Amino acid sequence: MSKPIEDVIVIGGGIIGLASAHFMQQAGLKVRVIDQGEIGKGCSHGNCGLICPSHVPPLPRPGVLLKSFFAMLNPKGAFSIKPRLDPRLWGWLFSFASHCNSNNMRIAGKGREALLMFSREFYASFIEEESIDCDWEQLGCLFVYGSEKTLDAYDPVDKLLREEYGIPAQKLTGQELEQMEPAFRPGVASGAWYYKQDAHMRADKLITGWKKLLQNRGVEFIEHCEFKQFVATGSSAQGIMVQRNGADQPEQLRADAIVLSTGAWTPLLNRELGCRIPIQPGKGYSITMPRPEICPRYPMILEDEKVAITPMQSGYRLGSTMEFAGYDRSINPDRLNILRTGSEKYLREPYCEPIEETWYGWRPMTPNGLPIISHAPRFSNVVIAAGHNMIGLMTAPATGRHVAELVTGTKTCIDASPYLIR
Ligand SMILES: Cc1cc2nc3c(=O)[nH]c(=O)nc-3n(C[C@H](O)[C@H](O)[C@H](O)COP(=O)(O)OP(=O)(O)OC[C@H]3O[C@@H](n4cnc5c(N)ncnc54)[C@H](O)[C@@H]3O)c2cc1C
Repeated sequence: MSKPIEDVIVIGGGIIGLASAHFMQQAGLKVRVIDQGEIGKGCSHGNCGLICPSHVPPLPRPGVLLKSFFAMLNPKGAFSIKPRLDPRLWGWLFSFASHCNSNNMRIAGKGREALLMFSREFYASFIEEESIDCDWEQLGCLFVYGSEKTLDAYDPVDKLLREEYGIPAQKLTGQELEQMEPAFRPGVASGAWYYKQDAHMRADKLITGWKKLLQNRGVEFIEHCEFKQFVATGSSAQGIMVQRNGADQPEQLRADAIVLSTGAWTPLLNRELGCRIPIQPGKGYSITMPRPEICPRYPMILEDEKVAITPMQSGYRLGSTMEFAGYDRSINPDRLNILRTGSEKYLREPYCEPIEETWYGWRPMTPNGLPIISHAPRFSNVVIAAGHNMIGLMTAPATGRHVAELVTGTKTCIDASPYLIR
């Protein structure tokens, strides 16, 4: 009989690693979280903080290919691909294209729904019960459009969300929108879809608070500690080799089970995992600043410009853009300008000085719009939880619960099949 799982190492301390640590600690396991950098400083740090069950439909859906093609032709557009001869990127793009159909939209939609719904409920009670200071607000979210044509083009998505998922939205005219949100410049927006049940928060503050809570419960965090390889006998990993900053030699850490929540970095570990992880880094940017005088009350997505605006109690953030440029670490001022010009078009006071932070993050993008939450094919005690696309924050709690169930071998609360490695 195999030894029961007692201690586990989580590799990658982003929001997915933290949520996984939370549920495994609750299941009675001894948990260590390691990160090659600082905890929570990857893609989970400067994101837009939106928690939207309305994000059920995945990015690969009918009509997206044509839209993306035209978006790419616009040098000032939010979407771009850095042209290069990278077989992995082209393989990923072909796979993405093959998923842009209604069948995938339905399958991925169901998988995303299960993660989104539990996570939305979990955050609402967890943040209140544990008094986590993260600017949590449940005001809904506005999807804003600049023309009648694009506003009405959303009608079928509204119908789908309403009829198949029970997520209703209110369609607002430009005038109704301006009455509801006086931060808009008059006469610019044609209207919006208002999702009342959506919420928002400040992700970096959530991570700080959640990490502290977990530390108090005995979870150990080890920063500047890079995973290098598995130490394995047959199909079971006995531990991992890590390299700590400043140490001369790699070191071995022992564990009964290992969770790999390394976000966009995960395919760099393909050789170790013995499988191909279909993730590409989808680079996005954000700018964080103090709240302007005429600050919007509601978080919003300017859908035609693809810019998200998050008013937080402790600040104000513009975010978005999607760039497939590999693991490029530069901050491109032209991409940041897309955030500025998008918000300038709609808002009376679109930003405020001084800028506190300009930031980029690599979204872990999968071609089917679903994360991978699955045992690694080569090891019976390694679970991969990566590829959360644009919804990692809003699906982290359900992911963490699912990870804990896979690690402990308990019956899963949700159908595991959509997230398996294929
Ligand atoms: C501009 C922007 C806006 C966004 N807005 C939203 C939003 O409003 N709502 C939402 O839900 N999502 C949003 N997202 C997406 C969300 O941020 C991601 O889906 C999520 O952060 C992914 O979390 P993660 O834990 O998988 O990855 P990460 O947060 O990137 O964590 C992975 C960690 O693994 C570590 N790591 C990697 N390799 C190793 C190794 N070998 N050894 C040790 N450690 C390693 C990294 O250092 C990193 O800390 C946004 C993203 C961007 C870029």
